[in-house]
Amino acid sequence: MSRAIFAEIKAGRGVDGGVWFDATGVPKSLLETTYVDTLRRYALAGVDISSEPMLVAPAPHTSLGGLVIDAQCRVLRADGSPISGLFAAGEVTGGVHGLNRIGGNAGTEVLVFGRIAGDSAASFAKMV
Ligand SMILES: Cc1cc2nc3c(=O)[nH]c(=O)nc-3n(C[C@H](O)[C@H](O)[C@H](O)COP(=O)(O)OP(=O)(O)OC[C@H]3O[C@@H](n4cnc5c(N)ncnc54)[C@H](O)[C@@H]3O)c2cc1C
Repeated sequence: MSRAIFAEIKAGRGVDGGVWFDATGVPKSLLETTYVDTLRRYALAGVDISSEPMLVAPAPHTSLGGLVIDAQCRVLRADGSPISGLFAAGEVTGGVHGLNRIGGNAGTEVLVFGRIAGDSAASFAKMV
């Protein structure tokens, strides 16, 4: 959705740098339980998203780095061969989440891939 919104804005079809997001068809009781932060945040700006559309735009939240890793978290060269003794996990790597990292998935990423990278580095250290 972020990519589609960005494409609309880039093509000149945006409004004040964003697009209208209409959640007025969502029951207010659902907004109050599931989207309470969004409801409150827009209310602070004087917008009641249960009865009027909100202006939204994608924004950079964090960066996904350029290191490519394999399943053992070995850092790969451009030709796909591993760089001996170099392991990586987390935001310094890219490609783990596809085009867009879904909110909340970074925590899982650093735990899962951090563990794998640590294990791989320990195994490597025992070999050399
Ligand atoms: C405001 C904010 C809110 C977030 N909320 C969430 C959330 O709700 N859920 C979620 O899943 N993710 C969230 N994230 C993303 C998540 O926190 C990060 O993706 C994650 O912490 C990245 O972990 P990392 O270990 O890859 O990098 P980092 O946590 O950035 O760790 C890198 C470490 O390397 C150290 N370092 C840098 N350079 C050097 C150097 N030269 N030598 C030695 N050490 C160095 C840094 O000091 C740092 O401690 C949020 C991020 C931000 C910024």
